[in-house]
Amino acid sequence: MSPEERRRRRELNAEAINEKALLLLIEQAEDSQKRNEVIYKVKSFTTDDIIYNIIVVEDKMKACDCPDFTSNNIACEHMYLLRRYNRNTAVFVISTNLPTPEVFTDNIRTEQQQQQQTIEIELQDLRQTTVNGIDAVSNLQEVLNSYEILIR
Ligand SMILES: [Zn+2]
Repeated sequence: MSPEERRRRRELNAEAINEKALLLLIEQAEDSQKRNEVIYKVKSFTTDDIIYNIIVVEDKMKACDCPDFTSNNIACEHMYLLRRYNRNTAVFVISTNLPTPEVFTDNIRTEQQQQQQTIEIELQDLRQTTVNGIDAVSNLQEVLNSYEILIR
């Protein structure tokens, strides 16, 4: 599974949670002592009584204390769920080229990139379909030609 597929799977896990459940799973904790820092409490999707903390600094998700984030250091399903809860909060993003985390300033940029990737994949499929169509037509032409030879 490619990193993009694994990322997408986490996002889909968060999208699978219905609107009502979402509101039961997330709550904003009391304001932190630090300025511009907010902590959200997110319940485990699978295990009752487990609650994870996501630290948000200046509207950017910085960390989640779940096992997935702490061991992989990439956006976890809780972060994607939090983005649904608060659209102004940017999901944690790490660049594969740099060892230091890089957080996108807004979700819109990330979403645009994802949309562009989807469009490119669809375009590739469309090209393949066109190529297959052309092949089919030329095969048909050959068959017709051979019939013509037979008739003569
Ligand atoms: Zn998490």
